[in-house]
Amino acid sequence: MSIFSFQSVGCCSKTLARAGVFFTPHGVVETPRFMPVGTLANVKTLTPSQLKDTGAQMVLANTYHLHLQPGEAIVSGGGGLHKFMGWDGPMLTDSGGFQVFSLSEMRKITDDGVTFRSPHDGQIINLTPERSIEIQNTLGADVIMAFDECPPYPASREEVEAATERTYRWLKRCIVAHQRSDQALFAIVQGGVYLDLRSEAAIALSQLDLPGYAIGGVSVGEPPELMAKIVQATAPLLPREKPRYLMGVGTYREMAIAIASGIDLFDCVIPTRWARHGTAIVQGERWNLKNAKFREDFTPLDETCSCYTCKNFTRAYLSHLIRAQEILAYTLLSIHNITELISFTQKIREAILSDRFATDFAHWLR
Ligand SMILES: [Zn+2]
Repeated sequence: MSIFSFQSVGCCSKTLARAGVFFTPHGVVETPRFMPVGTLANVKTLTPSQLKDTGAQMVLANTYHLHLQPGEAIVSGGGGLHKFMGWDGPMLTDSGGFQVFSLSEMRKITDDGVTFRSPHDGQIINLTPERSIEIQNTLGADVIMAFDECPPYPASREEVEAATERTYRWLKRCIVAHQRSDQALFAIVQGGVYLDLRSEAAIALSQLDLPGYAIGGVSVGEPPELMAKIVQATAPLLPREKPRYLMGVGTYREMAIAIASGIDLFDCVIPTRWARHGTAIVQGERWNLKNAKFREDFTPLDETCSCYTCKNFTRAYLSHLIRAQEILAYTLLSIHNITELISFTQKIREAILSDRFATDFAHWLR
């Protein structure tokens, strides 16, 4: 029996939403759940204990960034990702594929893998499915992701078809290369905006019986209605008894619609990125705290939020810190923004368990 398992503990009677528990060697993840992103082995401006207080259960780190800096050997020398960054809960690393395709210049893609120039020192780096898995095995997260080719948007059907087929071939090489039984390898469904390619990929990957499945290549510039269609066409085809993860998505509406199609996990950099721009997420809305109306507003950011920031500070104080560019502003806003997104998914979980999701969250499902 695998040390990774997924148990459904409740289903919505009107949609495909489900509440579940994902078991990992570092603890459980109650789903649906939003996962904060700790690109360089830290969620920017937060200590692990502040992060825990937001309700975070599983945290991401980026293979591409950690490989470039400080290098996986140093993370491993520090006892592996959990010990190195002081986070004892479940962790996930991505494969580096998305960053290679979206961030690096001068890349060359062949069937073998991708060659690109390091933005740090100009060195030529070759990332293959085997190398990505080797790096992720060395980093030591609980969940590791298959190395995939993420086509841009827009891209022709031929390009997307080639990338989807290559992603499948690369997944088979990832499975062979994967060496650690205490890490779960998740497959990634590609297929761009072509629903038939998505469906074919979801069915083919499902037959490989992996411990979890992700939908990648969304939130890359396509309109939101198209993303919803992709998720609705793909998620129900993935195995019911495995966790399903929608990569790079973290707004209220997009998460609610995806949950209604059976998605369990989400990640997105927006709560911390927006915090650094002085933007708060309040009940799914985006507030710019530099706005003059907040200067003398002595109420909490969100009356209904139980986070440390909302319990102890006012909008006026946060607005002041942001205008003065004090680092504490970024910490307090990150605490709040992450708490908002996690508690949104947690409230949905509770609603699914009492079968109120379709009615209570109807306004987010339109
Ligand atoms: Zn708050």
